[in-house]
Amino acid sequence: MSSDPAIEWSNLVEEIVKCRKCRLHALRRNPVPGEGPLDAKIMFIGEAPGEKEDEQGRPFVGPAGKLLNKLLESINLNRNEVFITNIVKCRPPGNRDPLDDEVEACIGYLWRQIKLIKPKIIVALGRHAARTLFHAANLKWDSMSQRHGRIHDIEVLGVKVILIPTYHPAAALYNPRLRKVLESDFRKIGEVLRSELKPSKPRTLLDYLSSSSRKIS
Ligand code: URA
Ligand code: SF4
Repeated sequence: MSSDPAIEWSNLVEEIVKCRKCRLHALRRNPVPGEGPLDAKIMFIGEAPGEKEDEQGRPFVGPAGKLLNKLLESINLNRNEVFITNIVKCRPPGNRDPLDDEVEACIGYLWRQIKLIKPKIIVALGRHAARTLFHAANLKWDSMSQRHGRIHDIEVLGVKVILIPTYHPAAALYNPRLRKVLESDFRKIGEVLRSELKPSKPRTLLDYLSSSSRKIS
């Protein structure tokens, strides 16, 4: 395996395009590996491609994607600055939830994407993505109403990331109350991202004295 991220990424896409590891390969028109810069600071992870995504081979291009674009814009993020993917890369028939064995077959691709991109923040869109990431970090998942918009410091395969679960945009399409919650979670995501991107200040003598028990004699 090469250490050049661009080569690793094209190898990964090639494997996903050829993949027949689960039954979802049989009905897909196009797999949806995900898209975005390989040095993205923030990664958004949904559940599975839907009809439009399957048609175009791109994540979040249907109605939920339109809402996701608006939410990104609301915190001054452009789609081309973020990496967007899903837990499973092929569309489940009729948009049913992915089954456990399909997630198990596919999840290795997501782990490779996280290791490659090393984002500072992962936003899990919806409870499937959130639960899968919680379990990968050996945390017990309870519910979205408990966890949404909150920061969880986790480590996935040696990559330390801030995980922020929130509701799936599709769930908020016809639910104004949930949409308000998503908007407020996105404001939080924007704040966390800004604070992560701040260059760390040079440490002054005062910083040193206040954070250390050692005294200068
Ligand atoms: N819903 C998802 O979870 N992912 C997509 O890519 C589109 C809709
Ligand atoms: Fe392979 Fe994932 Fe598609 Fe299943 S969903 S065929 S594991 S790429």
